[in-house]
Amino acid sequence: MQAQSTFGIAGLLGWPVAHSRSPVIHNHWLARYGILGRYVLFGVAPESLASAVKGLSVLRLRGCNVTTPHKQAVMALLDDVDPLAKSIGAVNTIVVGDDGSLRGYNNDGNGFVQSVRDAQPSWRPDSGPIAIIGAGGAARAVIASLAAQGAGEIRVVNRTFERAKALQDAFGPPIAAVRWNDRERALDGVALAVNATNQGMEGQPALDIALTHLPAQATVADLVYVPRETPFLQAARVRGNATLNGLGMLLNQARPAFNAWFGVMPQITPELIRAVEATFTSA
Ligand code: NAP
Repeated sequence: MQAQSTFGIAGLLGWPVAHSRSPVIHNHWLARYGILGRYVLFGVAPESLASAVKGLSVLRLRGCNVTTPHKQAVMALLDDVDPLAKSIGAVNTIVVGDDGSLRGYNNDGNGFVQSVRDAQPSWRPDSGPIAIIGAGGAARAVIASLAAQGAGEIRVVNRTFERAKALQDAFGPPIAAVRWNDRERALDGVALAVNATNQGMEGQPALDIALTHLPAQATVADLVYVPRETPFLQAARVRGNATLNGLGMLLNQARPAFNAWFGVMPQITPELIRAVEATFTSA
């Protein structure tokens, strides 16, 4: 970690990046903790990724986040990749060491698990079966963290069965791939059900699933946070289930990154949540 008396810069490498809420989050924390620094957006086209990553240490940035489409490609450009990020197969955070070395992490899955704990303090990954709907990059990160934190049974339901099967092959016994036609029965007896597809996002149709098999005590989560309540979460809330959206995941993945770059583990406060939610209406 560089001396805190110097102005620290961190940012986001992606293409495009303009939609990102990360500047609001990190700049809020920089102001709140009185740290000299700034979090900025770097729109980097795929063909420029290698030179941009080299520039992180040349320019002495503290580090950066990485988003679409660079999360996988960036791994080969780093000096070291943390084991969880390796198992996910993607990096969302880079930390520049004092010696200029670059280490990659993926905080998305742990951010999700922490967001469920925040919403339901009595819940644990081994509280009961978990149904994950979706098998894309976000689902993979969530599954890797749930498995690493002791989940005993994770049913992965995906429209394209082969992608769910690939996750079962990659992560082994706690994962069971389920066919799309069986998605409703996959909710039988679960302690946690998660929408990790893009369905229900602003501009997308609702996730096509009935909740008839969902236990009344199950917690229901959506990785989507715009809108704040997807049709999937609304249907679960109306049935009486506890629900949470993806904002907690976004905020919780940012905390360890900020800590690694700026030396303070920041808090998620109502003020920060209001600042991020204010961007939803102005978007
Ligand atoms: P992705 O890799 O493109 O995966 C998309 C997933 O959605 C796949 O499983 C895909 O199934 C499924 N899907 C797409 N259209 C569908 C349809 N019509 N019916 C059923 N399933 C469908 O995307 P991702 O990066 O994993 O992101 C998934 C969601 O998580 C997005 O909404 C994203 O915004 C959100 N997310 C949130 C956070 C956070 O911090 N809260 C972080 C990352 C992502 P197929 O395999 O069959 O195509």
